[in-house]
Amino acid sequence: MTNSPSYPEKVLASYHSNEQGLTTKEVGARQQKFGPNELQAGKKNGLFRQIVHHLSDITSLVLLFAVLLSTYLAVSGAEKWSQPLIIGSILALNVFISIYQEKSAEKALSALKNMNVHETTVIRNGHRQTIEATDLVVGDLVVLTAGDHVPADGKLLTANNLTLNEAVLTGESEPVQKNAEPQAPTTEISQRFNEVFSGTGVVTGNGLMVISAIGMQTEIGSIATLLNTTKKQATPLQEKLTILSKHLTSVALLGGLLIFIIGFFFRGFDLSAGLIMGVSLAVAAVPETLPIIVTISLSYGVIKMAKKNAIMRRVNAVETVGSIDVIASDKTGTLTQNQMTVTKYWVPENLPADTSSVISPDSDEFQLMRFMGLATNAEIKEVDGQTVELGDSTELAILRWMEHAQTTRMDLEKEYPRLAEDPFDSTKKLMGTLHQTPSGKYLLIVKGAIDRLPFQATDKQKKEVKHINQQFAQDALRVLAVGYTLLDEKPAEPLDATKIPVKLAGLIGIIDPPRPAAISAIRKAKTAGITTLMITGDHPETAKAIAVQMGIATPADQVITGADLRQLSEDELQERAPTIKVYARVSPADKIRIVKAWQANGSTIAMTGDGVNDAPAIKAADVGIAMGKTGTDVAKEAADMILVDDNFETIVAAIEEGRTIYQNILKAVEFLIGVNFAQLFLMIFAVAMGWGSPLLAEQLLLINILADGIPGFYICREVAEGHQMRRAPISRHSSIFADGLAQRVFFRALVFTLLTLSIFSLGLFVLSNQNLAFARTMLFLVLALGSMLDIYVIKSRQPFSRQTLVENPPLNYGLAGTMLLVISLATVPGLREIFGFTALNGLAWLIVLCSIFIPGLLLELRKRLALRQDAKNAALK
Ligand code: ATP
Repeated sequence: MTNSPSYPEKVLASYHSNEQGLTTKEVGARQQKFGPNELQAGKKNGLFRQIVHHLSDITSLVLLFAVLLSTYLAVSGAEKWSQPLIIGSILALNVFISIYQEKSAEKALSALKNMNVHETTVIRNGHRQTIEATDLVVGDLVVLTAGDHVPADGKLLTANNLTLNEAVLTGESEPVQKNAEPQAPTTEISQRFNEVFSGTGVVTGNGLMVISAIGMQTEIGSIATLLNTTKKQATPLQEKLTILSKHLTSVALLGGLLIFIIGFFFRGFDLSAGLIMGVSLAVAAVPETLPIIVTISLSYGVIKMAKKNAIMRRVNAVETVGSIDVIASDKTGTLTQNQMTVTKYWVPENLPADTSSVISPDSDEFQLMRFMGLATNAEIKEVDGQTVELGDSTELAILRWMEHAQTTRMDLEKEYPRLAEDPFDSTKKLMGTLHQTPSGKYLLIVKGAIDRLPFQATDKQKKEVKHINQQFAQDALRVLAVGYTLLDEKPAEPLDATKIPVKLAGLIGIIDPPRPAAISAIRKAKTAGITTLMITGDHPETAKAIAVQMGIATPADQVITGADLRQLSEDELQERAPTIKVYARVSPADKIRIVKAWQANGSTIAMTGDGVNDAPAIKAADVGIAMGKTGTDVAKEAADMILVDDNFETIVAAIEEGRTIYQNILKAVEFLIGVNFAQLFLMIFAVAMGWGSPLLAEQLLLINILADGIPGFYICREVAEGHQMRRAPISRHSSIFADGLAQRVFFRALVFTLLTLSIFSLGLFVLSNQNLAFARTMLFLVLALGSMLDIYVIKSRQPFSRQTLVENPPLNYGLAGTMLLVISLATVPGLREIFGFTALNGLAWLIVLCSIFIPGLLLELRKRLALRQDAKNAALK
C-alpha cells in the first residue's frame, strides 16, 4: 500500500522541488531561464535633463545671461569675441563639474545599495546555506525566522507561531497568523494564510516555505515598479549652508547691482560693460560650490565609513554620526567576542562544577546536556569539508559542549522527535520544545533565563538556585537554565512555554570574553567625550562584571534592570540617566525609553540592535545602528548605519570619520567665503574711486573657478586630524559659526581686502603709469595664488609646522596644476592678452611673489595665538 502524499509533499511537487531543496544544477538552469529575483528600477535622468537641471540654478542663469549679452556685443562689434567664449567655457565647466560631482556621489550611493542586499537562508542540496536573495529561484526552500524580510512569494511547508506583517501589501498593520495547511484558493491576499509574500516581514516564530514566484512575478512586483526609493532630504548642515548661501547670494547680487549703478551712472561705463561687470561680480561672489562641496563631503564620508565596515543607509546620517555623544551598545557580539563556551554547570542538590572534557553518558552533566541539546535550534555541520555554524551563539555553545559527549542534536532527536516549538524571543527570554517520548508521552523542555523559567521549587531550593546563579554571574558568565515536564496529553497549539510548570534540570554558565579592541575603543570614546552604555538581556551581575572588565562602569556604579526601569517615570529616568552605565535584563521596549531620556537631556545618542523588537529603538535613536551579521532585516531596515562586522570599535571609527567630515565642510566654508567679501569690497571701492575696474569680468570668473572652486573640492578629502577624538563632541544644533569660524572668515576677508587694495593701487599708481592691465595682472596673481596657498593653513587646525603635507596628495597635485594654469594664463605671451593681462616688470614680480605669502603667514600667526589662548583657557579650567 502506498501512502498518499502529505500537503507539504504535494506543494513541493507542484514546484518540482523536494525536502532536500533544489540541486545546484537545477538552480543554475532556473536562474538562466527566469533571471534574478529583483524588482526592476525606474529610469534615471538622461544627460540632457541633467544639463537643463544644472543650467536652471541661479548662478548658471546669471552666467547664461552674461554669455548672451557678451555674444550680442561681440556680434554688434562693440566687444571682443573672447569674452562670450571665456564666460561660455566657464559656464560649461561649472555644469560639467556639478554633473561629475553628482555622478560620483550617486556612484557611492549605488555601491551602498549593493552592499545592502538582503541575505536569506535556503536549503539546497540537503544543506542550509546563506545566499543573496537575488539568487533565489522558484522551488527554493527558504527558512523564515523572526525579523526576516520575506524575499519572494511562497507557500508554507511548516509554520511555528509564525506571524507576518503584511502592511506593505494589505495596509493591515496587525500581524497575521500563518499556517501550513491546505485551504481553498482565493485571490484575496489577506486571506491566504498558508502563503507568504515578498516584501512583508516575519514578526514572530519560524517556518519553511517553497518559493512560488520571484521578482516582478510576485504580488509586490505586480503593484510596484520601484521600491526602495531613497528620498533625498537635506541634512541640518546642508540646510544651514543653503540659508548661508542665500544670504551671501543676496549680498553678491546687491554688490553686482551697486557696481553697475556706480559704473554706469557715475563713472561713465557704457551700458553693456556695466551690465557684464555687475553680473560677473555677482557670479564671482556667490559661493555656488558650497552646497556641492557638502554633498561630496558627505558621500565621500559614506565611502570612507564603508571601508571601515560602517555602512550608512542614509547619507544624511553621516553628519549626525560626528556629533554622537552617547553610544548605547548591545553587549553580546558587539562588546564581547560572541564566542561562547559552556564552562560551568550545576544540577540541583549538587555543587557547581566545571564542564568536563569527556562526558560519560551516566553522568549528571550528560543528563543536563541532553535537555539543553533537545531544546536547541542551532546546527554545526560539515559542508564541502568546512565546518559551518548556523544559529544563535548561546546555542552553538551548547552544541560545542555536546561534542565532549560525542553526541549531536540529531542523535537526541532520533530518540525524542520534536513535535512543536515555542521559539525564543528576547522579551520573554525563554523557549520551549515539545517531544514524543519512546513510551508515548510528551516531554516539554523549557530553556531560558532562570528568573523567567516557570519552575516549581520550595523557598529553600529557590534560594539555592539564586545563590548559584549569582556565583556564575559574578564570574561574568551568561546563565542559562533548563526545566522539563512529562505530560500525558499533548498541550494545545501554538505551544506556550511560559505557562506550563516545569521541574528544574539545572543551570549552565557560558563565558563570552570581551573583545580587546572594544576595550580600547571604549577608552578612545571616553577621551572624545563620548559615554558608552552597555545594554544587555543578561543578568545584572553578569552585565556588571563584564562592564567593569571593559571600563564602561566602575565597581561602585549601579546597574539597573529592565524591571527597575519600568518603575521610573519619564522625568525620573531623565534625571538618573547620566549616572547609569549598565542596563541589564532589558527588553527591547525599554531601549526606547533609554534613548528618549538621553535625548531629553540634549544628547545625540546612537543605539545598536539586531532583533525585530529593536527596530523602534533603532528608529528613535539619533543614529540607529543594526548588526550586519546577526541583525534581522527589520532592524537593518530601521537603521541609519549597519555594522558589517558587528564590532563596537567600528562605531567609534565611524564617529571619527563623521567628525572629520564636519570639520572639512567647515574648512571649505572658511576657504570659500572669506575671499569673496574682499573681492566685492575691492571692486566697489575701486570703481567708486574712479580707478577703473580692478578685474575684468572674465578674470573674476577665472579666479572664482580656478582659485576657489577647484581647491575647495580637495579639502573634502582631508584625512582625520588626530586631535579630533581628543575633544568634546560638537552639538549638531550649534551654529556653524560657533567655534571661531566667524572670526576666522572675517579676519581672512580683512587681510585680503587690505592686501588687494594695496597691490592694485601700487600697480596702478606706483609701478605703472595708470596701466589698468598691469595692475590687474598683479592683482589677479596675488588674489588667485595667495588664496590658494591659504589652503595649507586652513586645512589643519594644527600649526603648519606639525603638518606633513603628504596625507592628501590630490590636494597638492590639484593645487600645483591650478597654480601653473593661473601663472600661464597671466604670463604666456599671446594667451595673456586674450584674458586682458600684460607683462610685468621685475619689481612687480618681486612684490607679487612676496605678497602671495602674506595672507597665509598672517592666518598662521592668528591660528598660533588662538591655539595658545585655548591652551591657557584649558589650563585655567
Ligand atoms: P545582549 O543583549 O547582551 O546582546 P542578547 O541579546 O543575546 O544579549 P537576550 O537574547 O535577550 O540577550 O538573552 C537574554 C537571556 O536569555 C540570556 O541571559 C539567557 O539566559 C537567555 N537566552 C539567550 N539565548 C537563549 C536561547 N537561545 N534559548 C534560551 N534562552 C536564551
